[in-house]
Amino acid sequence: MKTLKERILKDGRVLDGNILKVDSFINHQVDYKLMDDIGEEIYSRFADCKVDKILTIETSGIPVAYSVARNFDVPFVFAKKTISGNLAGDLYKTKVFSYTKSCQYDVVVSKKYLLKDENVLVVDDFLANGQAALGMIALVEQAGAKVVGVVALIEKAFQDGGKLVKEKGYRFEALASIEKMDYEGIKIKE
Ligand code: 5GP
Repeated sequence: MKTLKERILKDGRVLDGNILKVDSFINHQVDYKLMDDIGEEIYSRFADCKVDKILTIETSGIPVAYSVARNFDVPFVFAKKTISGNLAGDLYKTKVFSYTKSCQYDVVVSKKYLLKDENVLVVDDFLANGQAALGMIALVEQAGAKVVGVVALIEKAFQDGGKLVKEKGYRFEALASIEKMDYEGIKIKE
């Protein structure tokens, strides 16, 4: 997606540990116009599919999921990282290893919001080693629902996540695939 690629090249910053900082337009401050375009782009890529629900993980996936859900005119659900008192009980639960925090955490979704036989599109801001995506896939499968596909705004293609998701038989789309990044610059696939 041309506008996203241009924005990454203009405002993305490479940090230690293979982290791309995009917090001026995606992760902290959010450019809603870019999110509108992202929602339309993801919709156009999956317009031929039946999609009943969008699933993401809090927090950075939420604006993406909102924008995509608006285009499909379906609800979106964000898996939660903390189990508050009013969420205890009937939950789908899995463990995810956090790329940015280097620790394992539980993610949960209420059984009320992922239903058997629903067609679920999984979206997130980044795909690195694929752990967050695989965690979301596990939640969908626990529910007996179907994964329509997995979308990342930014795939770090030099890491294994995209390959892992595709090897497991899921359709994977990235709006921008980064081939290489270091302090000298960012190279995005054409
Ligand atoms: P994965 O589970 O695929 O290894 O990593 C994906 C998750 O880690 C995403 O939900 C995202 O929040 C975070 N993440 C991975 N790589 C980056 C990165 O380079 N920059 C930022 N801001 N987040 C990342």
